[in-house]
Amino acid sequence: MGKTTKKFETEVQQLLDLVIHSLYSNKEIFLRELISNASDAIDKVRFESHSNMELLEGNADWKIKLYADKEAGTLTISDNGIGMNMDEVAENIGTIAKSGTKNFMASLKEKNLADNPELIGQFGVGFYASFMVADKVILTTRKAGEKQFGCRWESTGDGSYTIEECEKETRGTDIVLHLKDEMKEFLEEWRIRAIVKKYSDYVQYPVVMDVTRSEPVKDQDGKVIEGGGTIDTTTEETLNSMKAIWTRPKSEITEEEYEEFYKHISHDYDKPLSTIHYSAEGVSEFKAIVYLPSHKPYDLFLRDHKKGVHLYVKRVYITDNCEALLPDYLRFIKGVVDSSDLPLNVSREILQEDVQIKRIQKSLVGKILSTLAEMKEKDFDTYLKFYEEFGPVLKEGVHFDFANREKIQDLLLYESSKTENGKYVSLKEYVERMPEAQKEIYFITGMSRASVENSPYMEVFRKKDFEVLYMTDPVDEWVVQAIHQYQEKHLKAIDRGDLELESEEEKKEAEAKKEEAKKEYAGVISFIQDTLKEQVKEVRLSSRLTESACCLVAEEMGLNANMEKILKSMNQ
Ligand code: ADP
Ligand code: MG
Repeated sequence: MGKTTKKFETEVQQLLDLVIHSLYSNKEIFLRELISNASDAIDKVRFESHSNMELLEGNADWKIKLYADKEAGTLTISDNGIGMNMDEVAENIGTIAKSGTKNFMASLKEKNLADNPELIGQFGVGFYASFMVADKVILTTRKAGEKQFGCRWESTGDGSYTIEECEKETRGTDIVLHLKDEMKEFLEEWRIRAIVKKYSDYVQYPVVMDVTRSEPVKDQDGKVIEGGGTIDTTTEETLNSMKAIWTRPKSEITEEEYEEFYKHISHDYDKPLSTIHYSAEGVSEFKAIVYLPSHKPYDLFLRDHKKGVHLYVKRVYITDNCEALLPDYLRFIKGVVDSSDLPLNVSREILQEDVQIKRIQKSLVGKILSTLAEMKEKDFDTYLKFYEEFGPVLKEGVHFDFANREKIQDLLLYESSKTENGKYVSLKEYVERMPEAQKEIYFITGMSRASVENSPYMEVFRKKDFEVLYMTDPVDEWVVQAIHQYQEKHLKAIDRGDLELESEEEKKEAEAKKEEAKKEYAGVISFIQDTLKEQVKEVRLSSRLTESACCLVAEEMGLNANMEKILKSMNQ
């Protein structure tokens, strides 16, 4: 069959025009796309060779090779993957049906990308990304096991392409990019290295390149010969680390490897506190390694804190800042998620709403919370270290993650009137050791243990031997608003509204006493009320104090003193 010229489908041409003419800010991603296709193609032949050894043609030395030819101005990406025959080239290249670009086209219509070219930079467009940097692309390919049917495809991206039979000795695909004049930087070794490192470091096949170095001429013993000049030696170097450690079985990964990987992705110099490595199957397929750091980063409470979970799709790097992967209250978690379900060309905007990402998030959050629960049970000391660093952030979850509220509640720890300094009680333990007569869970909020401990509100609780939780973290104010009750016991602030501490009999007795006292002290009370009328809402006789003469009480629905302090400090 001779050479045929075909027209691109209208949609493909539209896409190409956009790619070529729009301000595509992130041009380097073309290499990511082509390496990813090469890696997919190797995946395929590798998989199929399990049932048909002949496909290997004696070559199972999987490799993606890059050739930069400065004289010709070409960059070639060559793989020994499955390859394509004529029909497959016609079907896959030059149509929109097959490729991940479908996604792109969908959002093109939806979001009117044609009018907003700056948005396009956030997309990958698969094979067509080649045309961002090249004004001519030649693809030569030969399918595994079909030695006589090589195929050559060529296009300049303006309307049409040619396709013809050709000979190709080796299995796989070569893509030759004739780089545009202003894109010659992509022939530089350092540039190529950096891009491969950035986007394809964990591709599980070696991405290699011939590197030529001038070295001084040496004698037989390896000693440099003075005045002997230099000699060029060329070696094939592997540019990626291929360390997709999350794809390896847990049992084969050493502690050191987990640590090194943590340091690599987190830029933390310390060891992680704990590592969670797991894979999910079923509705959502992904692998994840996530770490609990051992200390909090300086910017944990700053608004633009970068979340630490990197997203990969089939071992290809997508982003290190996928907001949607974890809720805010787990923003301290570092790690990587590698999904098998997402398209490579997924954009940031799409990620925010993607159902697959939501599924991953749900699974990930569940796993992290159950790991924490287990750690709390079995390795309390480690849990405590975690809690002292990240407890205040985790608590935000009680407020914001309704679905997991109960699980998070059980992770909370508080000092209390019955713990020593620096020792904690959980809500569960608190309820377990409540005396029969106690009906509610009591807490007091404040700036520090010392300040709440000495509060006059505490007196009656000490007398009754009721435990009071010390909530001394600013975020606790929000926690208690969200929890309301635990195991059907209401959480009750001891400095807000009325407290029901007495039994029925005690109540009647107290009521009688109070009436009497009210009469007796009516004069004093109204005097105080008049004197303080600018400062307080009401002056009441109270049974809550046993040693102090008076105290300030907030209204049940009002802000308490601590909350007022917090809001003031936030300038509200
Ligand atoms: P996607 O990778 O999302 O499918 P692309 O535009 O990157 O979209 O590629 C389109 C199709 O072309 C691929 O699905 C694959 O069938 C084929 N293809 C591209 N590159 C190669 C390659 N190096 N080897 C074999 N097939 C390839
Ligand atoms: Mg692709």
